[in-house]
Amino acid sequence: MCDCLFCKIIAGEIPSEVVYEDEQVTAFRDINPVAPTHILIIPNKHIASINELTPEDESLVGHLFAAAKDLAKQEGIAESGYRLIINVGPHGGQEIYHLHLHLIGGHKMRHPMG
Ligand code: AMP
Ligand code: ZN
Repeated sequence: MCDCLFCKIIAGEIPSEVVYEDEQVTAFRDINPVAPTHILIIPNKHIASINELTPEDESLVGHLFAAAKDLAKQEGIAESGYRLIINVGPHGGQEIYHLHLHLIGGHKMRHPMG
């Protein structure tokens, strides 16, 4: 059994507010939102980070972004705009080592990158 928080969320062992799921990805609301919309979109397959991607994962990564686009529309923030962020490793601020795409929006972003 995978000892990973997000794998446990996918398996339904840890509760979360799932907003979308299909055979490849699951999306749920961040437990500590930084904006009115803050959704995490993750592959159902455990991939620790972007550093662990293999060529066979390329279509899966495309699917993560396609889900983000659809969720932005569903959340009503497609036109006002949003940010998609993937943190990688210690300097990138990655806290959970199961690849995730942050979809953040609903107010004007205050913080510049970096
Ligand atoms: P990162 O720093 O990019 O690894 O982001 C990890 C994110 O996971 C943070 O924004 C956390 O608030 C979020 N998070 C941690 N635990 C949970 C949980 N149980 N359910 C939903 N989001 C979580
Ligand atoms: Zn995992």
